Amino acid sequence: MTDSTSAAPARRTTRRVAVRYGSSEVFVGGGAPVLVQSMTNTDTADAIATAIQVKELARAGSEVVRITVNSPEAAAAVPAIREQLDRMGIDVPLVGDFHFNGHKLLAQYPGCAEALSKYRINPGNVGKGARRDDNFASMIETACRHGKPVRIGVNWGSLDQELSARLMDENARLAAPLPADAVLREALIRSALDSAARAEELGLPGDRIVLSCKVSGVQDLIQVYRLLAARCTYPLHLGLTEAGMGTKGIVASTAALAVLLQEGIGDTIRVSLTPEPGGDRTREVVVAQEILQTMGIRSFAPMVIACPGCGRTTSTVFQSLAADIQSYLREQMPRWKAVYPGVEDMRVAVMGCVVNGPGESKHADIGISLPGTGESPVAPVYVDGERTVTLKGDGIAREFQAIVDEYVNKRYGTPARAT
Ligand code: SF4
Repeated sequence: MTDSTSAAPARRTTRRVAVRYGSSEVFVGGGAPVLVQSMTNTDTADAIATAIQVKELARAGSEVVRITVNSPEAAAAVPAIREQLDRMGIDVPLVGDFHFNGHKLLAQYPGCAEALSKYRINPGNVGKGARRDDNFASMIETACRHGKPVRIGVNWGSLDQELSARLMDENARLAAPLPADAVLREALIRSALDSAARAEELGLPGDRIVLSCKVSGVQDLIQVYRLLAARCTYPLHLGLTEAGMGTKGIVASTAALAVLLQEGIGDTIRVSLTPEPGGDRTREVVVAQEILQTMGIRSFAPMVIACPGCGRTTSTVFQSLAADIQSYLREQMPRWKAVYPGVEDMRVAVMGCVVNGPGESKHADIGISLPGTGESPVAPVYVDGERTVTLKGDGIAREFQAIVDEYVNKRYGTPARAT
């Protein structure tokens, strides 16, 4: 998939990192489309539950899925998760998230090291003093041996304490010391860059390194990534850590990521939403895709343009049709993207009345204006800017969906591939 619109912001120039599994090969940076990632929240030791959630995330559009590898049981389960995914026909690359004991797990479970397509290493959580260097070196050597890329992922909540204490001391000795939060931002960046330099000294090629410096504040994230981007050519993984639940998490992530993406910073993104109890983990994938699509950076599924409704829409018919058609379009995408190339750029307008309905419908590929309160009970449909048919009665939703299907087949189908 390529960047979809000429209005998309120019991207920062970076190295290109390949993340592979089986026939699936995705690239981070180097001009590749901004990648959508996600992370499971199952117990990795439960191979079946984890494989099922990975499948759901991949089917929702996650192009790389991260799983935590936090115990011997989890490490032992990784090859079984991979095999289960293979049986289900899911070849999404898996990333192992390692903290504290990653050096031991990668050394003791070579099947885990091989089954993973990339390792995430947090330099703040690999040990202390001399052991930290040895543990980090051990993980990098495993990555070199298995030919895997690594994300060096620094996090505000687990910043290397020795490094931050040293930088604080150095800062205190300056004639004009910087504010403490500026020193902490520098410590985050320094931790990522120094670790990357060490990884290259240990033999890991520079084009197998991705960096991230996650923090939980929007303004801090923007400042940290601007500085980091200016000081290296490694591709960057973007994400606001601990973004939170519901609308707060979505708004905070969008605010932070949108500013950076608009500046061309960010080669892969994750939206770290806290799900509601029993909530759908795939929501973080949909939000990440919608950030990229609404910014004109990538397209993933046809976009539904719907008016907010007002006092002219006193029935729920309009809201139901907008919701149903949006769900329908997204559900079709796993099949449509294989047989209808370009369908992800389609725009469908669902409008509540004739005030703005026909105008918005003409700008979309297909549009419908439902009758507002007091209007004649008919729904004019526009296709490619022309009014084609007027629907009425109880079957409007069904008939409109059939019109959409026909349009997709006619416009995006090729004789050899369409059904
Ligand atoms: S298009 Fe009609 S129903 Fe929708 S917000 Fe505008 S006036 Fe209200």
